[in-house]
Amino acid sequence: MSDKRILGIVGIGPRGLYALEQLLAELEKQAAKRALALYLFEATGNFGNGAVYDTHQVETNWINITERILCLEQRAAINWGALAIPAFPSYHEWFEIEPQNLALTQADNYPPRAKLGVYLKARFDSLIQPLLAAEVVTLIKERVETLSILADGKINLQTNLQAYDKIDEVLLTIGHQPTVLSKQISTWESYFATDNKNTLFKKPYPIKDILISENLSPESTIGIRGFGLAMIDVVRGIANQFGSFSVVEESTHKCSYRAEQPLSNFFVPFSLDGLPPAPKPLTAKLDRWYQPTEAQLAQFKSSIGDRSKQQKANSPAFLINAIVPIAAALYAKLPQRYGLSTLNHSAIEAIVRAWLKEEHYAHPLIFPADESAQKTMQAFVGMATGTQAVSLDFCIGQVWRHCQPSIYEKLSFNECTDDVFVKIIELDERMKRYAYGPPVESIQQLLTLIEQGVLTLDFVDNPEISLSRAGWELQSGENKITVDLMVNSVLDAPKIKAVDAPIVKKLLSNDLIQPLHDDYGVLTHETAYLIPEKEDQVVPIALLGRLAKGTIIGVDAILECFGERPKKWAAEAVSRHEGKGMT
Ligand SMILES: Cc1cc2nc3c(=O)[nH]c(=O)nc-3n(C[C@H](O)[C@H](O)[C@H](O)COP(=O)(O)OP(=O)(O)OC[C@H]3O[C@@H](n4cnc5c(N)ncnc54)[C@H](O)[C@@H]3O)c2cc1C
Repeated sequence: MSDKRILGIVGIGPRGLYALEQLLAELEKQAAKRALALYLFEATGNFGNGAVYDTHQVETNWINITERILCLEQRAAINWGALAIPAFPSYHEWFEIEPQNLALTQADNYPPRAKLGVYLKARFDSLIQPLLAAEVVTLIKERVETLSILADGKINLQTNLQAYDKIDEVLLTIGHQPTVLSKQISTWESYFATDNKNTLFKKPYPIKDILISENLSPESTIGIRGFGLAMIDVVRGIANQFGSFSVVEESTHKCSYRAEQPLSNFFVPFSLDGLPPAPKPLTAKLDRWYQPTEAQLAQFKSSIGDRSKQQKANSPAFLINAIVPIAAALYAKLPQRYGLSTLNHSAIEAIVRAWLKEEHYAHPLIFPADESAQKTMQAFVGMATGTQAVSLDFCIGQVWRHCQPSIYEKLSFNECTDDVFVKIIELDERMKRYAYGPPVESIQQLLTLIEQGVLTLDFVDNPEISLSRAGWELQSGENKITVDLMVNSVLDAPKIKAVDAPIVKKLLSNDLIQPLHDDYGVLTHETAYLIPEKEDQVVPIALLGRLAKGTIIGVDAILECFGERPKKWAAEAVSRHEGKGMT
């Protein structure tokens, strides 16, 4: 058909998959007449699940969201013209999980990321078979390197292998992108470039690469740069190669570790602040302590969604003020509270507000930031298992997690100034230490490794690092240790100007994308279409996901991939396809 249009989707991880489903559903809904060809580009060849949910990754990479709330809804059947795409079950139906029948007192389960990958891949396969049969789609296992708009308005797309130059529309769902190496890592890389004894892993994934390293042995001393979720994946992956964990106490998920050979000061994690992540509550029953009521959430949404408040805001205070009464009210109901218990409600509200405004605000109700990492982890585990008094910061962090979907819904596109919005993003990032925390079992595994001397926290808080032919020399106070295998577990930040991938660099240099702020992502319309430097230019390129962070906060989590944004993009993309597009 001569007026057939070509739409390319670059990056078919979970978000690309869901966007594709929404596109097809929208073609049916708008009874689109025009013929369409779809080009799907996925560098890894893992169509549907991408790199994060690779089905071949080690089972010790766990997802950080409990399976109980992993509500990836079913796909309804789609019938567009002669094309019949079958329905596909929800995650829960697919794995025959009945969350409503799980006991509230049962410990939550955090599956391996590979398990979610199996689901995503199957969902993609069932979608793609009819499209392949109808010759509507082409699967392209290539890395897109550049993207430019030609004089005729079509998009030229160059991959690592060839060029595609008749594309009408492109959606970028490219997720995590590599950023330029930090100065520290570049220095390490060049120092140890010709060294066979000392090994540097510039990134933590795939963990298999570390596991097969010739330099990894029970005698190794493994430095891990970063003290977050990826560090936990690295530690668990390697620890499982040399031994095994078991849960020895069901009520707290306390663990033990049995190594096949003695391992001493085997793991040496460190970060700039040495602050550990806080685990999520162990059970649904414990998590209910932090769950706002529907009325509280409705009030919260209406308050932060108020456009005039957003316009007048000169700080995130309007958001903080909206969450303060909820956090204080839930805190007041906790069975055991850490610190002074004689304070009245308004005094607690004032402390919640002060701590949200100022990260370093200290108070007896807040768990001390200068406490040792080990004691902090033990205390947080006690709070997460309901066996110890809960500190106000832990409580606020959990309440924040419950409010996050409302924050993302109401503040993704808002009337705030750039500066205020950047501060909101920073506050949300800060709260992730609590809100995006790991399962209790992960922290319990670290604690048993510490108790057995397999993992040391002596260097966790910003050690001095010097390089020698023996390896990385770490020093904290009087303590010194030499590391011979170093893993960088700090993941690339979504700083658009730091991204080192040609696809993004080219878009930037062509002024097709503009960052909200040097530190954050790309400006897009609500439909996900790019807002270029020249704002009157109509660009047939849309972007969903992590790099759109400046305009859409909270894009990182799996549940957000299956949210409203891809639907809005699909509605606009099909309108454009039919020649009625707006933005
Ligand atoms: C290591 C890691 C662990 C995570 N764990 C969790 C978790 O436990 N829970 C959670 O909710 N979220 C987690 N996340 C967040 C994660 O971003 C989302 O869950 C989800 O993967 C985002 O989906 P996406 O499709 O936007 O991006 P991705 O999953 O990153 O998919 C993007 C895809 O685009 C492809 N691609 C990129 N550039 C190109 C190109 N130029 N050409 C062709 N293809 C390209 C990539 O190969 C990739 O498959 C994790 C992220 C990482 C990096």
